[in-house]
Amino acid sequence: MTDSHTHLVEPQLNDEIPTFLKNFKDIGGTSLLNVGYDHETNLQALKIASEFHYFEGITIKTAIGIHPESFNPNNMNSRRITSFDSMRKLLIEYEKILERNSNSVSAIGETGLDYFRILDDPELSLEQKQTTIQMQKESFRRHVELALKYEKPLTIHTREQTGGNKCIEDTLEILCQSGKGVVRGSLHSYTGDHQYVERILSLGFKIGFNGIITYKNADNVREILAKVPIEEILLETDAPYLPPQQIRSNKKAQFNHGQPSDVLYIAEAIAQTKGIPFDEVVEVTTENYNLTF
Ligand SMILES: [Zn+2]
Repeated sequence: MTDSHTHLVEPQLNDEIPTFLKNFKDIGGTSLLNVGYDHETNLQALKIASEFHYFEGITIKTAIGIHPESFNPNNMNSRRITSFDSMRKLLIEYEKILERNSNSVSAIGETGLDYFRILDDPELSLEQKQTTIQMQKESFRRHVELALKYEKPLTIHTREQTGGNKCIEDTLEILCQSGKGVVRGSLHSYTGDHQYVERILSLGFKIGFNGIITYKNADNVREILAKVPIEEILLETDAPYLPPQQIRSNKKAQFNHGQPSDVLYIAEAIAQTKGIPFDEVVEVTTENYNLTF
């Protein structure tokens, strides 16, 4: 089994990594993509890869990128990026790290666009919203260009404003323009309108499903899942976020947050929703992961 999008880079998880990898191995895990999302976590992802490169028989692949939330004026992170100047400096710094480590980086990301946290935030002025979206777009374009330049796949975050479709529209437009129809990868945790599934797949992107498909109120995501053929699906956890319902509601669980071994629950939920054998879900999604990353 594989986890195509996970964040072992979170500082509070540092001591848990050996346990997580062991648990992952116990459920039949073979490979995971550990995803950084800002300067600090990108460095941490590279550090983890060199420390745990092949631990317990598990391959740890690395993705580095700058998350669109980095440009949110309300982001609580240590380094807030609220001007075009500081964004461009950050991207230049990012590119240098990518260049130096291109052999140990398997994917570009987490990158993408997040309109939910910006356009639905009543505390941001119209001007702040517009500036932030422009910064997200410029950063995302740069990531797509770098994916093309370094021949790496992308792992993309796309989160829609409530009731809108602009985020996925803009994501696809940037992928077409800057990716020149060549760049591939995963659209991780897609929760938008299912009408866009065909366009996403026709661009050569696979769709990553995580613990959300086990949540009661996630009929819209199960609707997307039903539409995506198993050959286009990646298992992911987005750990430590989005633990499956079984973990969220289990008060005795060792960890209340997500971890890579949760792909077991996700594979089970996919098998159930799509009415296909569990073993087939595991086999095909592993092949999809190996083809993508
Ligand atoms: Zn993520």
